[in-house]
Amino acid sequence: MIKAIRGMRDLLPPETARWQWVEQVAREVFVLYGYREIRLPLLERTELFARSIGADTDIVGKEMYSFTDRKGESLTLRPEATASVLRAVLENGLDKGGGVKKLYTLGPMFRYERPQKGRYRQFYQINCEAYGVEAPELDAEVILLLLNILKRLQLGEMRLLINSLGCPECQVKFKAALGLFLISREGLCEDCQRRRTTNPLRVLDCKSVHCKEILKDAPVIRDYLCADCAAHFARVLELLSRFGVAYEEQPRLVRGLDYYTRTAFEVVAPGLGAQDAVAGGGRYNGLSQELGGPVLPAVGFAIGEDRLLEVLPRDPLCQDREFKVFLAALGGAARDRAFALLQELRQHDIAAEMDLEGRSLKAQMSVADRLRADCVIIIGEKELTDNKAQVRDMTDAHQQSISFAGIVDHLVMVKERRANVEEILNQTPAPR
Ligand code: AMP
Repeated sequence: MIKAIRGMRDLLPPETARWQWVEQVAREVFVLYGYREIRLPLLERTELFARSIGADTDIVGKEMYSFTDRKGESLTLRPEATASVLRAVLENGLDKGGGVKKLYTLGPMFRYERPQKGRYRQFYQINCEAYGVEAPELDAEVILLLLNILKRLQLGEMRLLINSLGCPECQVKFKAALGLFLISREGLCEDCQRRRTTNPLRVLDCKSVHCKEILKDAPVIRDYLCADCAAHFARVLELLSRFGVAYEEQPRLVRGLDYYTRTAFEVVAPGLGAQDAVAGGGRYNGLSQELGGPVLPAVGFAIGEDRLLEVLPRDPLCQDREFKVFLAALGGAARDRAFALLQELRQHDIAAEMDLEGRSLKAQMSVADRLRADCVIIIGEKELTDNKAQVRDMTDAHQQSISFAGIVDHLVMVKERRANVEEILNQTPAPR
């Protein structure tokens, strides 16, 4: 039997209901903050990622799914969305006209990483990107938006880690100091030995325990920020404090991509083991020019949906609560009548299903149970003669005879009543 590719999972029902719920909540929050959706190709020219993410990063160096197409062009399955969104923004002139431009996108990303818990080769992100404004208010707003999504999803414990990576001038000075520090250190991993001269910032992102140990005494970028970058960072932090956000400054946080300038942040959650970042992001003011575009300050984040779903409570809010009807029909004529009623119910927005295989009433009732139907309509020969069906309420087992002409109205009413009760229950404060 052919199996799925290593590191690529099937997402199955009923779990997919939770995914839909997460995405629905994210979409609702994006709308509140003025974001609109953009949908992009999964394939891009390899050069787009090599130029944006950085040649020395793990992603570009060893994790991309790249291949040459029939015309000999190198293409890559997107490992992240920021570069693609910006490519689309520039290509379609969405940056024109001034002011802030806000976009979000959802979908799969591909990285050839070693699969383990919370790390897949096809994984899903919810991405947020805002363009055109350099003000620290936008950094703060993007972080508040992210936390708003996570709070609405009832993510329990989480920590916001934050740092400033400065502008290119700060980075030149810091890289020189860091490079100098690293040059005399022994025992760095092979990658870091190379990176300490090519791109010492990358060493800060190394996962090796030994490299981490060496870095404990390394200089920190905070000490190399120019006055503007320091003021920008201070303002972001001030705004976060003002809106009650607890953050932890992490002077060595650089993230795995080269394009960040100034603010960089990550949200980590306990219970995920080594792969504990559920979201990450930051500012990338230089990326547009890097891709041949105009000056276009930008800030954004990506939520890792796979990891987020791992730590979210299995909340009843995302359970499948749709009001559902099952039609149990006995005999060919009854089945024909039921099939017509089935279509009519759906026309009236009532989810309905029926048996199509002529099973016994007992077997059909157990299917209704399995589907967690709210009501079952039973149609046999007698019901056809009387022009009435048996309607059974599965919550209290009450059964009544209702004329075929009145069934749809009856079920619409039951559905509404059920929805009202649920609304009242949802408004009741949870017991302390
Ligand atoms: P990045 O695009 O590297 O900034 O990552 C943003 C978020 O995507 C991370 O915080 C993770 O939650 C998620 N993520 C990144 N790589 C993977 C992966 N291989 N498997 C699952 N989630 C991932």
